Amino acid sequence: MYGLGILKGLSVTWKRFWDTYIDDISWAMSGRKRYHTEEGIRHRSSKNTKGIFTVQYPEEQLIVPEEFRFIPFLVYEEQADGKKEPRCTACGICSKACPPQCIWIVRSSDSVTGKPVSTPAEFYIDMDICMNCGFCAEYCPFDAIKMDHDFDIASQGRNVYNLEKLLKPASYYAEVRPLNYNQEEEARKAKEAAKAARAAGTAAAPTA
Ligand code: SF4
Ligand code: SF4
Repeated sequence: MYGLGILKGLSVTWKRFWDTYIDDISWAMSGRKRYHTEEGIRHRSSKNTKGIFTVQYPEEQLIVPEEFRFIPFLVYEEQADGKKEPRCTACGICSKACPPQCIWIVRSSDSVTGKPVSTPAEFYIDMDICMNCGFCAEYCPFDAIKMDHDFDIASQGRNVYNLEKLLKPASYYAEVRPLNYNQEEEARKAKEAAKAARAAGTAAAPTA
């Protein structure tokens, strides 16, 4: 029948229109505030919210799901003496995998011998070119680069992040991506246990 598709589309719009008021009124009657409260933001960020709503950005920001990705950051381990130990080995795989080629890395070198050392001396990502694809995080063999939730990075100047700005502690990674972090930690522990078991088996094996 002609026009059936249009009627179906209009009914969706109509339902959304009324859902907006029903949701607003039910919230107002429950005595809760929909705007400018953490609870209100959580509600509007959830799948339970109905109708159409406004986000008072930048004062309000929706809570993003764990798999949301924006710009990359480098993970470092916090040492007991307060030093930052980047997981990055400056292997360069991420910069090769990056489609728009917006990653630059300079590997450290030994001050005496001049030989390369597996840690970055400099690390830059041009966030204005980054297309948020996440390939760098996918390809990194050391879980050293991860995708951040921080999307509020607009500035007047050029957004080229250096090593200092890119580095964030592993505890931050665990906070923004708890499921991913725990999975990786379990995999790492299982790998280490298997390695230790292999080493123990080799040591116990009789020599010919
Ligand atoms: S972030 Fe990962 S892939 Fe990129 S240089 Fe460092 S270790 Fe290699
Ligand atoms: S997210 Fe994609 S575009 Fe951005 S730095 Fe990583 S690989 Fe490059």
